[in-house]
Amino acid sequence: MSSSKIILVTGGTGLVGKAIEELVTSQKRENEKWIFLSSKDANLCDFKATKEIFVKHGPTHVIHLAAKVGGLFDNMSNNLDFLRDNLHINDNVLQASYETGVEKVVSCLSTCIFPDKTSYPIDESMVHNGPPHNSNFGYSYAKRMIDVMNKAYNQQYGCQYTSVIPCNVFGPYDNYNLKSGHVIPALIRKCHEVVSVGGNQFTVFGSGKPLRQFIYSKDLAKLFVWVLFEYNEIEPIVLSVDETSEVSIKQLAEEITKAFNYKGEIVFDITKADGQYKKTASNAKLRKYLPNFEFTPFSTAIKESVDWYIKNHLSARN
Ligand code: NAP
Ligand code: GDP
Repeated sequence: MSSSKIILVTGGTGLVGKAIEELVTSQKRENEKWIFLSSKDANLCDFKATKEIFVKHGPTHVIHLAAKVGGLFDNMSNNLDFLRDNLHINDNVLQASYETGVEKVVSCLSTCIFPDKTSYPIDESMVHNGPPHNSNFGYSYAKRMIDVMNKAYNQQYGCQYTSVIPCNVFGPYDNYNLKSGHVIPALIRKCHEVVSVGGNQFTVFGSGKPLRQFIYSKDLAKLFVWVLFEYNEIEPIVLSVDETSEVSIKQLAEEITKAFNYKGEIVFDITKADGQYKKTASNAKLRKYLPNFEFTPFSTAIKESVDWYIKNHLSARN
């Protein structure tokens, strides 16, 4: 097969990488060879290993997802690890891309790296406008540096390296570890455990009041492929559902119980942290480019994610 484009996806075995893999495999795309890397293929904290895997595959394009990723409670305990691992991974991937002549790189920021004290909605122009929330400052500063590096690689060498800013992501192949996982996989696992033993107390951490925008990994996968081939700015772009789709953690918990047909009590454990109250992001820039993009309705996406977990919980990452 002759492939004019070789697309290397770092972090290709994670939540977002798996969704992109399923999408491009289902589309049978012409003249594209997609390679999905795991940490077993190369430890991207190490420059030599990173350069070797880039030389081996010779990518023309890179979707850079690999990162130390975790939920609120993991970040709160390990800010130094989040800072150092992500600084190393990002520096290595961008420098190896430059040294091996990659045409385009799309890296990943997150709406949780935005300033804590801010006006709402937050947009792409505000990434560096003040300190991030204290709970995840390590991850946030490392991620913010991607945007700084993209600008520097462009200014000094003319590289087309850009970044996207997704809101909270969820879907199949998530991380269901209760210590390191995000809220949706954690609550899906906890509700499944309650339902499995016929229990009637489903515990949600915090007050349930914080607000979040959640994007289904399958929708994000489509947007990533669009950014890779159609979006030509160096400046980042927010990939989020609309502001009107923001939900509270309480509403999220109710949606999960509906998907499990669980009728018992939902208990809010207010001894646990709430984290950032909200990080409402504007997707106006995305809407300008793709006014008709349809996000999967939240309840449909939650139901599909719950059904996937019920089917796959024995082999799911936990
Ligand atoms: P994930 O499920 O935790 O997957 C992380 C991926 O990175 C895995 O493929 C993992 O490989 C790889 N990886 C981790 N450390 C590595 C290392 N040292 N060397 C090589 N590979 C390494 O993460 P995700 O949720 O898909 O996140 C993908 C991207 O989206 C990340 O950049 C994250 O910051 C960003 N993001 C995520 C969210 C969210 O809510 N999940 C929201 C906004 C932005 P193994 O499978 O081998 O461990
Ligand atoms: P964040 O969006 O970056 O803060 O990260 P998370 O995905 O971990 O979401 C954290 C929010 O969900 C906070 O308001 C938590 O109090 C709440 N939450 C409720 N139950 C859980 C849980 O079991 N695990 C996690 N990670 N968060 C939970």
